[in-house]
Amino acid sequence: MIDIDVETEKKEILKRYRSLLRKCQSFIKKGENKLIRKAFQMAMDAHKDMRRKSGEPYIYHPISVAMICVEEIGLGVTSVICALLHDVVEDTDLELEDIEREFGPKVSSIIDGLTKISGVFDYTVSAQAENFRKMLLTLSDDVRVILIKLADRLHNMRTLDSMQRDKQLKIASETMYLYAPLSHRLGLYAIKSELEDISLKHTDRDAYLDIVNKLQITKESRNKFIKDFIKPIEDALLAEGFRVEITGRPKSIYSIWNKMQKQQIPFEQVYDQFAIRIILDSELEKEKADCWRVYSIITDHYLPNPERLRDWISTPKSNGYESLHTTVMSNLGKWVEVQIRTKRMNEIAEKGFAAHWKYKDPNSSQSHGLDHWLAKVRELLSNNDPSTTAEFLDQFRMNLFAEEVYVFTPKGELKTLPVNATALDFAFEIHSQVGSKCIGAKVNQKLVPLSHALKNGDQVEILTSGKQKPTEDWLKFAVTAKAKTKIKDALRDMKKKIAQDGEETVKKHLKKLKLELTQQNLNRLLLGYRMQTPLDLYYRIATQKPDFREFKEILSEEQKKKEVPSAKSFIEKLKEVRGVGEDMLLIGEDMDKIDYTLAPCCTPIQGDDVFGFVTINEGIKIHRCNCPNAVALMSNYGYRIIKAKWTSQKEVAFLAGLKISGIDSVGILNNITKVISNELKVNIRGITIDTTDGMFEGEIMLYVNDTSHLETLIQKLMKVNGVLNVVRFHK
Ligand code: MN
Repeated sequence: MIDIDVETEKKEILKRYRSLLRKCQSFIKKGENKLIRKAFQMAMDAHKDMRRKSGEPYIYHPISVAMICVEEIGLGVTSVICALLHDVVEDTDLELEDIEREFGPKVSSIIDGLTKISGVFDYTVSAQAENFRKMLLTLSDDVRVILIKLADRLHNMRTLDSMQRDKQLKIASETMYLYAPLSHRLGLYAIKSELEDISLKHTDRDAYLDIVNKLQITKESRNKFIKDFIKPIEDALLAEGFRVEITGRPKSIYSIWNKMQKQQIPFEQVYDQFAIRIILDSELEKEKADCWRVYSIITDHYLPNPERLRDWISTPKSNGYESLHTTVMSNLGKWVEVQIRTKRMNEIAEKGFAAHWKYKDPNSSQSHGLDHWLAKVRELLSNNDPSTTAEFLDQFRMNLFAEEVYVFTPKGELKTLPVNATALDFAFEIHSQVGSKCIGAKVNQKLVPLSHALKNGDQVEILTSGKQKPTEDWLKFAVTAKAKTKIKDALRDMKKKIAQDGEETVKKHLKKLKLELTQQNLNRLLLGYRMQTPLDLYYRIATQKPDFREFKEILSEEQKKKEVPSAKSFIEKLKEVRGVGEDMLLIGEDMDKIDYTLAPCCTPIQGDDVFGFVTINEGIKIHRCNCPNAVALMSNYGYRIIKAKWTSQKEVAFLAGLKISGIDSVGILNNITKVISNELKVNIRGITIDTTDGMFEGEIMLYVNDTSHLETLIQKLMKVNGVLNVVRFHK
């Protein structure tokens, strides 16, 4: 037991509470101090014997969440009260009625929302997807629920170090899966970046630390570069009478990491490691003209890249983001991104949604982009079949991150769609009836197919026919969640009709075998035909008409003996092997006793940070923690994750993939393979090399012993004459 000094703790709690109160002084009205005090007292009493995993008093957490609401999101008194009380209904004896009696219906309904969406993550997939859906539904009640939830998540992420490793992975993955995209969509850029950075720190610590370290090493030269770059434009702007603040800050660790992953390049080659930001003092009605004047002055000094001009002042993003971005050529031959915005725009960019209220004209009836978005979410959720929730969420997530294109109806009405949206998406955006009857479109008067991708400024007219019906093919080029959901609904309806015939056939066959359609027989058929749902099974039987013998075989005695493995049975077996309580899978040791394989998607090798995933038909699969599929697996199927670790006892060979590129020359392939097989005695499984215009690019699959073995190999390959880059890749 740690000795706890109660008096010191009490003082610290009061200190934190007072500093929260001080932060509230700018917006607090008479009498509201008392309300906050009451909420604080209530939370104190309710949590008084509880502690956080870190050992700190629990009350530190609600105080911190309230502080984030005020300082980092810009919320008001109601939110402070709700944040202080956000965990009491879930974790203590207090009931919602107690809250309502003391603070009224508004506060209690927000806390109700917060309680409903909190951590029901284990158990089943659908429960969790349903939980996400509930969370999104609360958006339409009061968006503060989501904002306080984000503050709660942010504080939990900031204190993630004191959690157990498997919890860390799960929480970090959920954060990447939903909370970071949500904060992006709500325009909370600072919070989004911090959530991503902390997630990365826990899912791929080595990569994270590597970037932190490299940013530190390059700090001095970067700062000098920024200073030299800023000097001439700052002088010119001041001479023109502008009041400006110019900063040059490195981009987030996650965004640098993401660039490195996407483009398969080392840290040094990420050209936009930082951006220059010019924030100017300007009156509301002069903002736009001022920003463009600043642009003009900058481009007098540095040449702009015409491809990289982004004007989010004339048409703000739908999360409210306004800014003018350009990329210019510096004197040292490096591209530099410059962001131009006013103080008002900057506040909106940092605090997002809440800052809008401050600037929104209360007399204006013009609705804001976010309201549009909320209306869209509400609409999508209201006609969504619960059985497709998980699927829907995946699409919804994708749309959260998407950039946008702006297009027009024939009457000149503006529609915002995600980048790569097609004429078909546009049709569904107009109306689901227009979408499902759509046969083609005219873009800027020219006839185009449904799959035509729209560009900014296109004017689109949709052509329809009463005979048209959605097809499977449409899903290949529909991009928006709305279009995809509607197409799938229509296809599912058609499939259901066909499946009815299949069900009749199944019943007939069963009758011949003197069997009935019991759950057990159905399960055997699902397994036998490798189908996931009864609907899929009936549809298959209706369309492919398998012969009766095959059907009979599946239901034969022989097959009945084979059991369907469940997640539980694996864990039971694991316990038998490893002794109760030790639920860690040691790879290399339990090889014979437990059925597991290394996942082909990320080909883990000894030394990688890994976890086990219980599959339905193929035993346990071992994935790398930074596998591209890990986030989706961990956040959707948390209950099927098993902790796993390598044992170093066995010398086993693992399959790994390398991408290699460089300048083509005679004998290069020979030199590469020589290094691999002669010097390091590694077995190559496959190698492909393509050359174009004197450059080559290739992929090598080979067997190595562990990560350090692979690292040595990469170092050696880098030394081969002509080789410019070697990286490990996920398949
Ligand atoms: Mn909490």
